[in-house]
Amino acid sequence: MPEAREWLVQWARDAHAMEEQAKTMLSGQAQRLQNYPMLQGGIERHLEETNVQAQRLANYLEGIDEGNSTMKDIGGKLMAMGQAFTGMFASDEVMKGALAGYTFEHMEIASYTILMAAAEELGDQELARICRQNLEEEVAMADWLASQAPALTTEFLRRAEFDSSAAKR
Ligand code: MG
Ligand code: FE
Repeated sequence: MPEAREWLVQWARDAHAMEEQAKTMLSGQAQRLQNYPMLQGGIERHLEETNVQAQRLANYLEGIDEGNSTMKDIGGKLMAMGQAFTGMFASDEVMKGALAGYTFEHMEIASYTILMAAAEELGDQELARICRQNLEEEVAMADWLASQAPALTTEFLRRAEFDSSAAKR
């Protein structure tokens, strides 16, 4: 395989690992958020999208016979990072989670912007299309999180005033 093509495949594998990490993070958050049903609902919807995003990339990698090496990438190292990201043990867990989620969506936006450019440069239309689909969903989620952030912050602070444990998550 030419070297440029090898980079494309490596980055597609990285994107798949990123989505696996997103699944871990989002499902963890969705399970724990009890007092913030709006945020929980949005996270659950994006988790469903994320499952499909990961599947699109897995199908692509299997199609080019990279399926096995993909599976190797999804080791425990990324799983552990996902937990650190969510601020699970912080007493302002919901706010740390919102921050982590907002940051993560932008990392995904950057990753797909780069991967899509690479796929177009190397004439891989299938991968370019997958990147465009996933990217649209990441942008929508990032926008939604941004739109929710002020009200979420207000709610957290008002709740913290009378019950800090209910405010937490
Ligand atoms: Mg994603
Ligand atoms: Fe996402």
